[in-house]
Amino acid sequence: MTALALEDVTLTHPDGDGRLTALDAVSLTVAPGELIAVVGPSGSGKSSLLAVAATLLRPDSGRVVLAGRSAGELTERERTRLRREHVGIVFQQSNLLPSLTAVEQLLAVEHLRGGDVRAARIRAAALLASAGLAGDRHGRRPHQLSGGERQRVNIARALFPGPSVLLVDEPTSALDHERGARVMDLLAEVTREHGTATVLVTHDRELLDRADRVLAMTDGRLAPA
Ligand code: ADP
Ligand code: MG
Repeated sequence: MTALALEDVTLTHPDGDGRLTALDAVSLTVAPGELIAVVGPSGSGKSSLLAVAATLLRPDSGRVVLAGRSAGELTERERTRLRREHVGIVFQQSNLLPSLTAVEQLLAVEHLRGGDVRAARIRAAALLASAGLAGDRHGRRPHQLSGGERQRVNIARALFPGPSVLLVDEPTSALDHERGARVMDLLAEVTREHGTATVLVTHDRELLDRADRVLAMTDGRLAPA
């Protein structure tokens, strides 16, 4: 089964008087439990690829299929629901909320939805622990955590709703090699354990041995690396 498919996707951005082609006829399918790495220089279109896959940006042409549903055929509201239910996103900048503890970062969404907070708290703690965040860190706020620990919270938060697709943008760029390697290990592990279709983009060609497939992005075109 395909968890995520991009079919002949082209995306342009406004650029002065004209348009800049960020994605040029990109096709990609990702199966559950598969970890795909996309490498490429800065400006080649990697973040644009993730934004389209996440249905945050609408392509100019082509199709994005998430969990069997074609995103372009949905209303804005249906697309938002599809994204919430199926897509976990880990951005390069840890966009954690400064005033919330690690556990609360995961629970914030659950609160908004009015779910069972006590059960959610137990599940959040278990997920943080499985992401390698020691128990004594769960009550800390972002500024009291290291960069590597913040990335672990980010990853746990993205996984909390049980997404089928996990999109990760340059997760190791702010980390030293050793911490970066541990975060890559974690991403490979969660891909197997949670069965997510994971797309990881990076400009760092090291640490790619964990990926099932490596693709290269050059000027908006995607090809086997
Ligand atoms: P990468 O993540 O590989 O660095 P991006 O997807 O961010 O690449 O950018 C691809 C190209 O699209 C770049 O030339 C970038 O300047 C341009 N671009 C990205 N986002 C926007 C935007 N919102 N508006 C205009 N141009 C953009
Ligand atoms: Mg980028």
